[in-house]
Amino acid sequence: MSASPPVNPATSRLVSRFGVRPSMASGAPHMHAGLDLGTSKGRRESEPIYASKAGVVSLVAANTPTSSMSGYGNAVVLRHGDGTYGLYAHMQDGSITVRPGQTVDGGTQIGLMGNSTNGHFSPLPGESTAQWAARANAAGYHAPGPMVRHLHYELRVARPDGSSPFPGPYPTSPSEALFNRDPSPWFGDLGLRFSTRGAATIVPGSPIDRSRASWSQSMAGTLAVMGLDGDELDALGQETGYQPPEPERDAKWGISKTERLMLVTGGIVLTGTIAAFIIRSRMRPNRRRGGPRQNRLRAWGSK
Ligand SMILES: [Zn+2]
Repeated sequence: MSASPPVNPATSRLVSRFGVRPSMASGAPHMHAGLDLGTSKGRRESEPIYASKAGVVSLVAANTPTSSMSGYGNAVVLRHGDGTYGLYAHMQDGSITVRPGQTVDGGTQIGLMGNSTNGHFSPLPGESTAQWAARANAAGYHAPGPMVRHLHYELRVARPDGSSPFPGPYPTSPSEALFNRDPSPWFGDLGLRFSTRGAATIVPGSPIDRSRASWSQSMAGTLAVMGLDGDELDALGQETGYQPPEPERDAKWGISKTERLMLVTGGIVLTGTIAAFIIRSRMRPNRRRGGPRQNRLRAWGSK
């Protein structure tokens, strides 16, 4: 285990979690084998990526169509002392500052956040956006623009047959991704938590600290729905038993979407009730004066 302090892989917001989600290309259910971390607020260019933990650089892949890490663009793999491998993908062309075999401390900058994919979702080195669009269209991809800049972070262990998980292609199903782990609990052990608001250090004993463990259980529930059995879940290092995940906090309101919906609905119902009460009281005959029912229009007008 490393003695270096936990460090954010990027000062960034959580965009997409580990697990099954609709495919970018087809919309069909698709295994997302890592965490997507977007650029931090106000920073759209050249966001540094740091090693989350000390390790040895076991692989550096280039953004070329023949890459052994096809789909990941410019990518770095760090092998950590605990037997885990961290993959940092989609880095900016020419930004990688480490080489294979190099030992890095947690917090060492290893590259810049980018959108490289070696494929049809972003330009290759030297390719203009127009050239990329023509190539992607010719191959049948019709994206509105290149993939947005983000860090795709994957955490892997040895494959089920004991072989190294790198290099390797992107898994296309949960069963192909049995060597992939949900990075969230791993980062939690490092004292880090990512949310849509950004990266945060977990304060021991805080509500975040107490609730973070529910994520791996919720992921086990998702994978179980996709047909993985208990042994396969054990291979994934997931605990069984489902608990609803902690709701994501809305960045502006500081509350979850459900809570916001409840507040808005409650506000509409309350406003409607008050309005109905006022209208009814105005329409009612003025009983205090004992006025007849036809006085109600005059009573309305006089108030
Ligand atoms: Zn991703």
